[in-house]
Amino acid sequence: MQQQVGFIGMGIMGRAMAANLIRAGYSVTVYNRSRDKCRDLEEMGARVADSPAELGRGCGTVIAMLTGPEALEDTLFGENGAAAEFGPNTLFTNMSSIQPVFARELGERLKNSECRYVDAPVSGSKKPAEEGNLVVLAGGESADVEAMRPLFEVMGKKVVHCGPVGQGSMMKMAVNLLLGTMMEGLAEMIHLGRQGGLDTDSLLDVVTSGPLNCGLFQIKESMLRDGEYPTQFPLKHMSKDLKFVLNTAYEIGASLPTGHGVSLAYATACNLGHGDEDFAAVMRALQETSTKR
Ligand code: NAP
Repeated sequence: MQQQVGFIGMGIMGRAMAANLIRAGYSVTVYNRSRDKCRDLEEMGARVADSPAELGRGCGTVIAMLTGPEALEDTLFGENGAAAEFGPNTLFTNMSSIQPVFARELGERLKNSECRYVDAPVSGSKKPAEEGNLVVLAGGESADVEAMRPLFEVMGKKVVHCGPVGQGSMMKMAVNLLLGTMMEGLAEMIHLGRQGGLDTDSLLDVVTSGPLNCGLFQIKESMLRDGEYPTQFPLKHMSKDLKFVLNTAYEIGASLPTGHGVSLAYATACNLGHGDEDFAAVMRALQETSTKR
């Protein structure tokens, strides 16, 4: 019988990832709180479940790609939650970005159902998700990660087994700390130069022509030049992730002096109303809190 894959969460990332599984020939059932986001997947051949429970009943492999802990709580353990339907033959994988401690707690709570569980957030944004070029950061038993590997290899170009459950999320914290810091650094560099009378094109030219050039800066270059930030990775999610990073750093005793400032920069941008724009819009917070020139 063909493997039934359930996919919970048809946001920016989940929709693209589920679409790739369908294209690769998997039989996919999808669920999203706002059903309209399932329409294009349904046209591609996905079944649409009316509730997470219905999805959990029908699928041996279940993937979640949701905002964070609250969304997982609602879809797994809330009314009509999926987890009540899981059993020893279920392999559940969370790909949402969450704190490592929550990833481990989730494992404890899922023990009641005896299901297998993989903690596998991703590095990469909307475009890599669409192109199947994500980097999957997996935590869990080797056998479970290996069972998921064929699906991961459809959604991503690389799978890194980081250790037991919780360590995929730990890797995600480390990666997003660097991502948020690099974006804030580029925005501050451009902002300082502009305030000092330099033009954006020459500032970007200097960065991208030398050893500081990198894929991230190339992707964000046009946003900074145009002052438009179409959403690939929502700024509110970066702000959430940096809160998780700081909580994690506190728990494990890691000193992150720059991380605190970076987290504050994204929180400020959210408070100024830019949470739904791409995280490169952290630039707007610099502009809106500086003396006008
Ligand atoms: P998104 O577009 O905002 O989608 C969020 C999803 O979570 C939607 O399906 C939403 O349902 C669902 N959701 C939120 N709260 C819920 C609740 N209480 N109950 C049920 N469903 C709920 O986010 P995304 O960009 O796809 O990101 C998903 C995850 O991947 C996040 O953890 C994010 O940090 C991580 N991530 C994102 C990127 C990126 O570039 N976008 C890259 C790497 C990792 P509705 O549609 O009904 O609101």
